[in-house]
Parts: sequence; structure tokens; C-alpha cells
Amino acid sequence: MALSDLNPVERNEEGIAAVLGILKQQFGERFQTGEAIRSQHAHTTTYIPTQAPDGVVFAETTPEVQEIVRACAAHRVPVIAFGVGSSLEGHTNAPGGGISIDTSRMNRILSVNPQDLDCTVEPGVTREDLNRHLRDTGLFFPIDPGANASLGGMAATRASGTNAVRYGTMRENVLSLTAVMADGEAVTTGKRAKKSSAGYDLTRLLVGSEGTLGIITALTLRLQGIPQAISGGVCPFPSLEAACNTVIATIQMGIPVARIELVNALQMRAMKNYSKLDYPESPCLFVEFHGSDAGVAEQAETFGMIAEEQGGGPFLWTSVAEERTKLWKARHDAYWSSLTLRPGAKGLSTDVCVPISRLAECVTETEADIAEMGLIAPIVGHAGDGNFHVLVLMDVDKPEEIALAEKFVARLNMRAIAMEGTCTGEHGIGQGKVGFLRHELGHGVDVMRTIKQALDPLNIMNPGKILPAAG
Ligand SMILES: Cc1cc2nc3c(=O)[nH]c(=O)nc-3n(C[C@H](O)[C@H](O)[C@H](O)COP(=O)(O)OP(=O)(O)OC[C@H]3O[C@@H](n4cnc5c(N)ncnc54)[C@H](O)[C@@H]3O)c2cc1C
Repeated sequence: MALSDLNPVERNEEGIAAVLGILKQQFGERFQTGEAIRSQHAHTTTYIPTQAPDGVVFAETTPEVQEIVRACAAHRVPVIAFGVGSSLEGHTNAPGGGISIDTSRMNRILSVNPQDLDCTVEPGVTREDLNRHLRDTGLFFPIDPGANASLGGMAATRASGTNAVRYGTMRENVLSLTAVMADGEAVTTGKRAKKSSAGYDLTRLLVGSEGTLGIITALTLRLQGIPQAISGGVCPFPSLEAACNTVIATIQMGIPVARIELVNALQMRAMKNYSKLDYPESPCLFVEFHGSDAGVAEQAETFGMIAEEQGGGPFLWTSVAEERTKLWKARHDAYWSSLTLRPGAKGLSTDVCVPISRLAECVTETEADIAEMGLIAPIVGHAGDGNFHVLVLMDVDKPEEIALAEKFVARLNMRAIAMEGTCTGEHGIGQGKVGFLRHELGHGVDVMRTIKQALDPLNIMNPGKILPAAG
């Protein structure tokens, strides 16, 4: 049984036929039902089999999203929001068919308020688009998943990335949002005030809800000033444990590191070849500091001393922008470089996150498990948050390889949960991790189900995701 079969959703053929007719009439060329476009809008990034929607509509405004949701609600048809499709757990699959709402044409930057350090955007704006737009303002938006994801998709998955150790995740950086709920009504969850005690926190309910409660049509985001100085570099270590212990000491000492990324020896080999880096093939930390000239130099030196105490170093760091950009480009390309370790293979990316004090233990046990199970699976991670990825490379035409990878992932997820961590620090539950939610949150799953039933009684919003069908 494939992971995506765990949460089956029944097809409503009659309802789907009715909605296809309505949308064709209302949206003309902006509603498409060709096989290629439908497959593109289902899950594409990993090995979970594609389950295509019945049609894709390119919405341009909040009222249009309301029209689509109302048609789907009237005929009890699933509706699945789509950003750029870079999610990793079958999030955009349509197990019971239905309508995919592509938000790529909702790509306007509605306002930028430099004095208040915030902006309001439509959900199809990507993080790179936003930062290009902000370049001349001296501001930037710090959340940087490895893909150039849409801000709507990032909010919906509660995404983060290399900068989260300093600037937080989407949870901390979305001030308010507008969403079309399952009954077709649009709700705006807050204003632009930096903080608020006004009732239930609907913003944070929708952030991370993976399109299962509402379709986000606008977001107000917190921005940051571009730091006066940035320094960064790479530090090699004799063992993964020494690298992890350096991360733990750096965080516990309160050094305001902006990025601290762990890369194991196998991942380093891939990055050296793919991105032409000249560093040893040993565990490394990629580190960056933001602040004043004096501040970043001092932080880099203190970090170098901590690393040395753990047997690491030399820590070679630079303030030269081009050199740093090359390093971080290599880090962001880690996923693609890993795939070269086994040409033709597909990757299954994990993202457990544990309390920082358990990081070394969790990573070293996991590396031993990889060796014992005979897998090719590099490790790379946002170690400052206790979050790391293992990319299991496998031949998806061999069921025994998929079974072995799933066994490894189950052990990893349960290991993290046993260490008071989570099975997903940033990718979300989607279809792939549905089986782990109850292990992690127990009765919390029942509370989530009550919320889902109250807000989406017909179960039309991205059904089959997050919540287990039963149990
Ligand atoms: C190479 C690579 C590296 C990655 N690195 C990271 C990383 O470092 N950190 C990280 O967090 N993630 C990472 N990811 C995962 C992915 O980029 C994130 O999950 C991202 O947030 C998904 O955004 P998207 O626009 O692709 O959303 P999609 O994949 O299109 O959708 C994701 C989910 O959000 C829902 N959704 C999309 N738009 C809306 C909307 N407007 N309203 C409501 N729901 C919506 C969808 O229905 C779906 O459930 C990586 C992925 C890849 C391929």
C-alpha cells in the first residue's frame, strides 16, 4: 500500500461533473482540464504517486476564489490550493479528485510599509519575487525554504529555512491573512499591529493548515532591515557529533547566529562536486552572522573558538558578498546535489526537529541507522533549530527500496518524537506523515478534527491531508 492510499477520499462523480461545467463557463481559458496540466498540479516533488485533480483554475482575485469555493461547496467537490508545488509530502495531491486553484496569477505586492517593517502580498508572490521587489528599500523577507516557494504555500505549510534560527518561521512572520473559508466567506484575521490579544488567534490557526481550512488570498508579512554587515563561512569537524556539540554550545551561549547549517560528509561530497566547493569531505557547519562590522567579527571569532574546543576548524570566514553567496547557493542546492550521488534515483526528504540538547544524539543515532540499513542518505540541516533533513535516495521502481526507506523514516520520526521532538519541523504532514500525528500529539488530533469539522463540515478543503481518516 502506498502512503497516499492511507487516507482514501471517495470521488463524487456527479458533483465533479457539475463543477467542471460551471467553472468552464465562468473561467473560459483560465480553467483547464488537460492531462499534463492536471498532473503538474498534483504532487510532483517526491516519490508519492501523483493523484491529479479534475481541473485547474487560474484565479486572479479573492472574489474569484470565493466563486470557485462556493461552486465546490454546493456540489461537495474537493478544492486544493496550489502555490508552486514544491511541498514534499503529497500536499497538492487530489486523492478524491476535485479542483486545484492555482494562485500564480495572484502575484501582486499590494503594499510595502517601510516605517512599520511590513508588507501585504497576494499568495502567488514567491519569496524571491518579494525580495527582488524590496531590494531598494533596505528591507528583506528572511524565510528561505530551499525552493522558490509561493508565500501562500509557505504560510500554508508553516515553512522555514536557514534563517529561522535568527528570524523565526512563517508562524512568527505572518501578521495577518485573508482567507476564503469552506463556506465561501472571506475572513481577515488581523490588522498590522505588531502584537494583538484580540480573541482566538485565527492567523496561527490558518498558518500551517495546509489548505485544509481555507484558501489564503492575501498575507501581511513582517520584514527585516538588511544588516549593516554579514560575515560567514564553513567550519570542518572530525565527527558529526563534534559539529552538533558546537551548534548546541553556540545556541546555549546565546550567540545571535543568523544561520548555522549542518552538512555531513556524504552531503559535503555531493556539494563539492555539484557546486565546485573546495572544502574537506568531512562534517561541516555553514555559519552566518548579521550585525555591525565589529559585532559580526566578534561573533565569528567566538564561534571559531567554540569549534576549536570540539576539535573543529579552521573556521574560514569572510565578509565578501560574492564568496558568501557562492556558499549559500551551494547550501540551497543541497537537494539537487544529493541526487547526483545516485543518478536516476528519487529522494525522500525527512525533516525531524528535536530540542537542541538532543540534537547530537538524534543525528548520530540516525547516521548509524543509515549505515546499518545500507541506505545512501546524506544529512543536511538547520541545526540551530534542532532540525535536520535526511534525503533517502531510492529507485522508485523497486518496491523493496520504497519499503526500506519508509521503515527508516518511521524509525527516524519515532526517534525524534521519543526525544520530545516532532516528525516535521517545517515540511508539514500532507499525506506522507499522517500516520505519525497521533504518536506525536495524542488527543490533540481529536481537537484538530473538531476544528476541521466545525470549519469545513463538508470536508471539501484539501481532504485526505493532515488528519488520519480514522484512529
Ligand atoms: C529543493 C527543496 C528544498 C526545500 N527546502 C525547504 C526548507 O528549507 N524549508 C521548508 O520549510 N520547506 C522546504 N521545502 C518544501 C517547500 O518548498 C515548502 O513546503 C513550501 O512552503 C511550499 O510552498 P509552495 O508554494 O510550493 O506550496 P505548494 O506545494 O503549492 O502547496 C503546499 C501546501 O500548501 C497549500 N497551499 C498552497 N497555497 C495555498 C494558499 N494560497 N492557501 C491555502 N493553502 C495553500 C497546498 O494546498 C498544499 O497543501 C523544500 C522543497 C524543495 C523541493
